[in-house]
Amino acid sequence: MKKNIIDIETAKDLLKIKKTILYLVIPCYNEEDVLPITTKALDEKMNDLIKNKKISSKSKVLYVDDGSKDNTWNLIEKIHSENELFCGVKLSRNKGHQNALLAGLMSAKGHSDITISMDADLQDDIGVIDKMLEEYENGSKIVYGVRSSRKKDTFFKKFTAEGFYKFMHLMGVEIVFNHADCRLMSKEALDALEKFNEVNLFLRGIVPQIGYKTSIVYYERNERAAGKSKYPLKKMLKFAIEGITSFSVVPLKMITSIGFIMFLISFLVIIYSIIVKILGQTVSGWTFIVSSIWLVSSIQMLSLGIIGEYIGKIYQETKRRPKYIIEKELM
Ligand code: UDP
Ligand code: MG
Repeated sequence: MKKNIIDIETAKDLLKIKKTILYLVIPCYNEEDVLPITTKALDEKMNDLIKNKKISSKSKVLYVDDGSKDNTWNLIEKIHSENELFCGVKLSRNKGHQNALLAGLMSAKGHSDITISMDADLQDDIGVIDKMLEEYENGSKIVYGVRSSRKKDTFFKKFTAEGFYKFMHLMGVEIVFNHADCRLMSKEALDALEKFNEVNLFLRGIVPQIGYKTSIVYYERNERAAGKSKYPLKKMLKFAIEGITSFSVVPLKMITSIGFIMFLISFLVIIYSIIVKILGQTVSGWTFIVSSIWLVSSIQMLSLGIIGEYIGKIYQETKRRPKYIIEKELM
């Protein structure tokens, strides 16, 4: 019996010694300019973490080539052959940042305990990795990296980006303010993420749906190390529309509200037109036409709203999101 207890204690110790395997997941689209700089910085950082016993020596950096048209993939192959800390996956074509990120996370899931996603351009300060690991040690399964300021961003970028978060909030999409896709996710969180089967992928909206203990760390956002932004205004707008239409039925509900307001106004219009008629300031038939226009259009608007409510339900059903995620079990 005594021996048994010692065994359990030893096992617990062993568990503590077992260090976390970290995979850094980095989506890359036409990033040949910045990749050598990123690789050098991450190589130093990861070796530092491994040396200081913060992470396991099995940890890796996973580059996801999102169907780049330049030399990015050749570069990743070369880096991989020279340094086994780096590995890569290549998507068959450009699928966009969110899909590339998901592909990377799912590829890393089988090999790692935790993943941290970052952009290839080192705009997210890599010092954030230490802070995130600390939060993970404290029990958080998801750690959001949040930009503490946008001093280095242009006014236009700051304005559009912050407007984006505010607008999303207004539209009823639950997202973390100023958090892009720099985040730590544990294996449990990734398993949960895999249960979300939706095709239209908006990770910033899905991740808060997962639950578990989460925390936020702040970091400075730097300028791009090299190369140009792959997110022009057009793509940003598309991204915002994607976020709203794949998370929110607020636009559909707005139709109902407009219909209702019009319905109320139509009563005022009817009263007004009757008064005008009594005062004899109108041609014959005017009262009837004006009243019917308002009444009929508001009924149409309301009907559209009702159809919208049902479409909203269908839309949520088709997503087949998991209804719950179990965190712990005592059976
Ligand atoms: N990216 C991608 N696929 C795309 C566009 C961008 O994988 O279609 C990657 C890109 O390589 C970078 C990250 O997404 O690692 C963020 O892009 P970028 O830095 O251009 O955006 P910004 O920081 O300007 O918003
Ligand atoms: Mg960037």
